[in-house]
Amino acid sequence: MGALEPGYISLYRSGELRRRAKALEARLTSCDICPRECGVNRLQGERGFCHSAHLPIVAAVCAHHGEEPAISGSRGSGTIFFGNCNMRCAYCQNYQISQRWRKHQSREMDFHTLAQRMLYLQDELECHNINFVSPSHFVPQLVRAVLEAVPMGLRLPLVYNCSGYDSTRSLKELDGIIDIYLPDLRYASDKWARRFSQAAGYVKHARAAIREMYRQVGELVLDEAGIARRGLIVRHLVLPNGLAGSRESLTWLAEEVSPAVTVSIMSQYLPAHRASRIPALSRKLWASEYSEVIELVDRLGLENGWLQEMGASDNYLPDFDRQGHPFSSTVANPA
Ligand code: SF4
Repeated sequence: MGALEPGYISLYRSGELRRRAKALEARLTSCDICPRECGVNRLQGERGFCHSAHLPIVAAVCAHHGEEPAISGSRGSGTIFFGNCNMRCAYCQNYQISQRWRKHQSREMDFHTLAQRMLYLQDELECHNINFVSPSHFVPQLVRAVLEAVPMGLRLPLVYNCSGYDSTRSLKELDGIIDIYLPDLRYASDKWARRFSQAAGYVKHARAAIREMYRQVGELVLDEAGIARRGLIVRHLVLPNGLAGSRESLTWLAEEVSPAVTVSIMSQYLPAHRASRIPALSRKLWASEYSEVIELVDRLGLENGWLQEMGASDNYLPDFDRQGHPFSSTVANPA
């Protein structure tokens, strides 16, 4: 038993991982897994806002080299892109898999197959971690698949890579299971969150979620090679026209969470999906807008993390309709 063994292994041994999976699955009968609390019975095939029933929808599985350096490292992050989403961002770069639920219904995957995919990422691609993208509506499914994968040999740290619209009750069930939380902090205004992402109460829910994540895993811990083992990284995508509320959100993070929290400030905004038809969102960032945010990060003393270069936008646009890897054509996709 190594000192760096992920927490879910001991939870598996004690039976707690199974108890958590069952407790979460019971909530699918009247779904309150995310803040929307739709109350539908997903075990009977009913679908709420996220258009997802019982089985997880897996849109792509690949080694991702475009995440933060501590997540992608040299061998890539073992990324599992879940289909559908509990938000509807007008500018979503992953809209092909997050908002085309009819097309992706056929990508439902049983838990054993999902566990096999994790082992493929670990043993064949030798990724540094398993990175669940858009997991907020599939928390019970994620835990069930990990429960299946542990006796098959899963040992990698788990990354929970979300938009921040999470239920703290669901997150508490992930305590000790998730090693690295990678949430977005998208808005400081519920008005913009509702208008551009259909996410009522986003600010309250995302801030409570980030506090809970920080309580669980604390500040980022790297191994000797600079790869993340545990901790919180908060992503903040700067939007044009100040719509992301960068000043308010980053001040909140520095003052109410910790100035030592690791942040990933992103300039890669593109008017993807429906955003080109929404005047306030229809352009890329100006360099002056981004520099203001960078200066703010400096003033707030947020010293830990990464600042994306301006001009990064074109490099990060995935194509989930492309055969193979959504970010390049070089790595085979077994999903
Ligand atoms: S996970 Fe889906 S069905 Fe459940 S509350 Fe959220 S949006 Fe509704």
